[in-house]
Amino acid sequence: MYNTIIIGLGSMGSSALYQLAKRGIKALGLEQFGIGHTKGSHSGQTRIVRKAYFEHPDYVPLLEEAYKGWDSIQRETGKQLFHKNGLVYFGEPGHKVMEGVEFSANTFNIRLARMINEQLKMFEIPSHFQALIEPEAGFAVAEETIRSFIGQAEKLGAEVQTRETVMGWRLKDNYVEVHTDKMEYHTEKLILTAGAYTNQLIHGFSNQLTVTRQLIFWIKPEHPDQFAPERFPCWVVAEPEYPGIFYGFPILSAEQGGNGLLKIAHHAPGEFIHPKDLNKLNPEKEKEKLRSFLKKYLPEIGGDIVEVTACLYTYSPDEHFIIDFLPDTNSRVVLAAGFSGHGFKFVPVVGEILADLALQGKTELPIDFLRLNRF
Ligand SMILES: Cc1cc2nc3c(=O)[nH]c(=O)nc-3n(C[C@H](O)[C@H](O)[C@H](O)COP(=O)(O)OP(=O)(O)OC[C@H]3O[C@@H](n4cnc5c(N)ncnc54)[C@H](O)[C@@H]3O)c2cc1C
Repeated sequence: MYNTIIIGLGSMGSSALYQLAKRGIKALGLEQFGIGHTKGSHSGQTRIVRKAYFEHPDYVPLLEEAYKGWDSIQRETGKQLFHKNGLVYFGEPGHKVMEGVEFSANTFNIRLARMINEQLKMFEIPSHFQALIEPEAGFAVAEETIRSFIGQAEKLGAEVQTRETVMGWRLKDNYVEVHTDKMEYHTEKLILTAGAYTNQLIHGFSNQLTVTRQLIFWIKPEHPDQFAPERFPCWVVAEPEYPGIFYGFPILSAEQGGNGLLKIAHHAPGEFIHPKDLNKLNPEKEKEKLRSFLKKYLPEIGGDIVEVTACLYTYSPDEHFIIDFLPDTNSRVVLAAGFSGHGFKFVPVVGEILADLALQGKTELPIDFLRLNRF
């Protein structure tokens, strides 16, 4: 009998396992693949971390806590997992992204700079666009973050089983039964952090969560050194002709855990798929879209797309996260899902929240806007 079992040791599950282990709880984490794999939502090296949240200002208090969590895991491991190399937002004044950034920044006193620094000269931005710089933003190294949380959790006594798939779970009178392809386990509390695979674990939930394939484009520029993190920030362009945003990162060297390529992507719903079809790629149309974006906004790159990889988004109906007890489970089953393509920056705080809910039945962190009763 475990105190808590976590299904899915990706972004959110790894952090939850660490939090439980830190609180001295007998916890088991189950993962169907390896740690830091390419069949979920966390592959592709990097994730933007930012605080002036255009999606909704209610996320900012959670981000304040997440930033503390990023500092703390970096201190404990001695690894740089979050690089604050700054983020520049480009868009037309009045665009909802630009307005949202300014609103959150003004409401929560988040520092924004308005000058475009020297390193951004390689962007060709329409003259009527606004540029906002968030100096305390940057990027996290995704797979390394997950490995770090799992490593720390194991040091603190957590159990981890990889390459073990949970086939189902059942609520009993005083515990939850979990069946895998290898074993049956019993636990007092269950945390579901299964990402794009959540629908397979909760029957009748598929109208709440939809899964899309998102493509990541890797470019080999003529002068890669111009794009090193100390010279080149993360960026977001709210291109008016497309939904969502285009965004990109600096180039990470092999020593920094990177592949030496420039990463660019479009944050807008991709193709709706079943997770098992993730790698059936047909990227030509998307490639053309990215090429025409690059021609317009980053014409100086002087290189082409050399690789395309894929990753999964799991959308909730309103694109806000779902963090709550699953109904009719007597507060034994906690669900964290539907991170809708913007969850990674919250990894440290989501782990805290999930541990609070599993152990205390409540959390002091402000998550009412993420509860299931909003649907
Ligand atoms: C291309 C792309 C770009 C993104 N960019 C950003 C960004 O810049 N900033 C940002 O904040 N967020 C970003 N995100 C979103 C962020 O990465 C996700 O919100 C986050 O990774 C979701 O975490 P998760 O724990 O729900 O899923 P995952 O990290 O996929 O974890 C779920 C885990 O559960 C396991 N699992 C599932 N079912 C079972 C089972 N039955 N048995 C055992 N194990 C199981 C899976 O194998 C997986 O490891 C991006 C996502 C993508 C795809």
